[in-house]
Amino acid sequence: MKVRTRFAPSPTGYLHIGGLRTALYGYLFAKQRGGDFILRIEDTDTTRYVDGSVQIIYDTMRDSGVMYDEGPDVGGDYGPYVQSERKDLYKEYAEKLVELGGAYYCFCDSERIASLKDENGNVRYDKHCLNLSKEEIKAKIDAGEPYVIRQNVPLEGSGSYHDLVYGDITVDYKDIEDGILLKSDGMPTYNFANVIDDHLMGITHVIRGIEYLSSTPKYNLMYDAFGWERPVYIHLPPIMKDAQHKLSKRNGDASYADFVEKGYVKQSIINYIALLGWSPKSNTEKMSLQELTDNFSLEGISKSPSIFDDVKLRWLSGEYIKEMSMEEFKANCYPFLKDSKAYGKYDEDKLLSLVKTRVQIYSEIPSKIDFLEEFTAYDLNLYENSKQKSSIAVAKDVLPKIKEVLSNVTDWQNSTLFTALVDLSTKLEIKKQAILWITRIAITGKEATAGGATEVADILGKDKTLERIDYSINLLG
Ligand code: GLU
Repeated sequence: MKVRTRFAPSPTGYLHIGGLRTALYGYLFAKQRGGDFILRIEDTDTTRYVDGSVQIIYDTMRDSGVMYDEGPDVGGDYGPYVQSERKDLYKEYAEKLVELGGAYYCFCDSERIASLKDENGNVRYDKHCLNLSKEEIKAKIDAGEPYVIRQNVPLEGSGSYHDLVYGDITVDYKDIEDGILLKSDGMPTYNFANVIDDHLMGITHVIRGIEYLSSTPKYNLMYDAFGWERPVYIHLPPIMKDAQHKLSKRNGDASYADFVEKGYVKQSIINYIALLGWSPKSNTEKMSLQELTDNFSLEGISKSPSIFDDVKLRWLSGEYIKEMSMEEFKANCYPFLKDSKAYGKYDEDKLLSLVKTRVQIYSEIPSKIDFLEEFTAYDLNLYENSKQKSSIAVAKDVLPKIKEVLSNVTDWQNSTLFTALVDLSTKLEIKKQAILWITRIAITGKEATAGGATEVADILGKDKTLERIDYSINLLG
């Protein structure tokens, strides 16, 4: 049988990291088995609907590579893939479930429901309408009385199933209430629609968050009542922001799009999300989507929550940058490079090679190269550095000589400049690091910069480098 998994997000805002992880695992599981991965939009809760969020779901999945084989915007044989377009189907199946004894019409108004509140304010429906006769029901419907359809959960016994991550799960039916399946406006609840859709769409493996672990027995009651085969269940551990708090879009925690905007390498985001709750057998953590597909295994999924670690994600992003070709780096970092003060003023390729091994996320680029444009009066004490064998006195003495040597360099590039300064240090019998330190302070006015003295001089160009050295000679007096 062909494996079919689905991602079933509700369009309630940004696609958060937890949602994308559920999608990713569904994708990996299906792709590894030559199966299909389906996108279904669960928009029956109109009160939580956020305009534009369906598009965000499409865009995020395409952009991240977690692409579906069937879905609202790509079609497929099991559509429609948007729940609000399947209203008639739910009504038909809800009526069928009533006939089968798995559900019943309920005409209780809000006042009666409110009167069922217990001392803690919780309402539990008391099966009041379960015993209405067929005639009574027909008369009420014909009279236009509003109604809902409720699930008829047994009062005794328990429901068990085997979850592939959490093992055997049993829930007593007395702990499950007769929840609403079809609302008075004809819209299904999640509790009903997920069952109907997963069955009609031929879903073989249901992969979703742990919050559904204990409600699954009530879904199984429906599969059983319809005489349908239950899917295999794979529930996933939560993702936490820290030991106490779940990572959640309701708390405004970052989404995939936020991380992309902050300059993280896209592949690293997906790679990292895969590791949130799953560990590969090998020690390799940096994996492409294809490698993740090849290596993904249910045994590697943890039962316990995983904590989102931004430091690790940054590290992974940096690893991707290091291994990226220069062309790819250039194309990807362009929006961030453009924001730097140095942009357009220096050779772009040189700027890029200066930063490529020095940033973990693209947005760090401006801060790494802005120094090129921030040359102003600086603290002369920067020359005082015993470790580098440098002092103001030495700087005063050698800077004019450095200037002279550099003025004579015709082939202005890092390696030539480096050789020229090393030769000078030999000639003057001064430590090479002192010459390089003094040069870098003289042309940047900064203690720390991306790139050494000659790399920076190369980028600045001959005129600017000599101009700055002149300035520093004056400053030293
Ligand atoms: N619409 C549900 C959610 O966003 C889907 C749960 C499921 O995958 O069954 O949580």
